[in-house]
Amino acid sequence: MGCVEGFARRQLAPWPTPLVAAPRLGRAIGLPNLWLKRDDLIAFGLGGNKVRGLEFLIADALAGDADVILTGAGTQSNHVRATAAAAAYVEREMIAVYWGSPPQRAVGNHALTLMLGATAVFTGSEDRESVDLRLQSLAQEVRAQGRRAYVIPRGGACALGAVGHALAARELMEQAVEAQLAPDVVVLAIGSGGTQAGLLAGARALALAWRIEGVSVSRPASEASARVLALARECADLAHVDAAFAEHDVVVHDGYIGDGYGVPTPAGDAAIELAARTEGVFLDPTYTGKALAGLISLAHDGRIRSTETVVFVHTGGAPTLLARDRETDTKR
Ligand SMILES: *Cc1c(COP(=O)(O)O)cnc(C)c1O
Repeated sequence: MGCVEGFARRQLAPWPTPLVAAPRLGRAIGLPNLWLKRDDLIAFGLGGNKVRGLEFLIADALAGDADVILTGAGTQSNHVRATAAAAAYVEREMIAVYWGSPPQRAVGNHALTLMLGATAVFTGSEDRESVDLRLQSLAQEVRAQGRRAYVIPRGGACALGAVGHALAARELMEQAVEAQLAPDVVVLAIGSGGTQAGLLAGARALALAWRIEGVSVSRPASEASARVLALARECADLAHVDAAFAEHDVVVHDGYIGDGYGVPTPAGDAAIELAARTEGVFLDPTYTGKALAGLISLAHDGRIRSTETVVFVHTGGAPTLLARDRETDTKR
């Protein structure tokens, strides 16, 4: 697979994650050959897809002898929580930059990130991009103190982070061979785009015929797919994978974001309940619940056929679920 082997990697978790059949959920949504790739079960820092990229980003930070690791997002970020766990694990200081203002109380991922020892900084602006500017200015402050700063972009979305997801393509391929399974389509939630980009680059390097379809949960599909395309190209370049990606190589579905990133939708909530009540699997309201809602309607419309073998990547996020409460049913 190109030169993926040539990148320094700081292993954080044992691999592979489980690939499990989900026949009850599959039957309920008209896809009897449905499988779940359980990246929510990555055995490090409560898991989630971000750990895959972090194995390479943290190795890079250590190679440069970084003292302080900085990254950012919203307070419920799985990426920030996983990065804080990784920083603690390699005994480095961690600064978490959040958009907005500090809430009264920390819940879910925010509480976990503080528990991991990260210092939280708020930009005071609701604009998500305010995080990027503050990361740069904080890194400069750290450097002015004579210390080395390593900035990880939001979502770990960069070519080196995507290399971790390219390796996931090989991991899934090996498991599929073992299970005598030929996936037709792999479906996952798309935020910053590094995960789909890496899977695309990895699948291309291995000449796999899978369709890899994203469900955007963060921005319009046109914007999301442009990011994925750029990152897939950068990742392939970095790993010396001989791949020319065209726009039509990147499939991202629109229509499942609802009122915005991180705002639950009725369809997403229904999908979360369905996965819980059929498979005992907890999805999350920001990413995987909306992605499953997308998969359900793709199956319903026949854009994914009932005869196809489908792998839904459970990219994690359940700690966000714990930040929500629920009406009790007083009728029972
Ligand atoms: C970040 C995240 C995603 C999306 O991954 P990107 O690489 O940002 O597109 C999906 N699911 C969960 C749970 C995440 O935390």
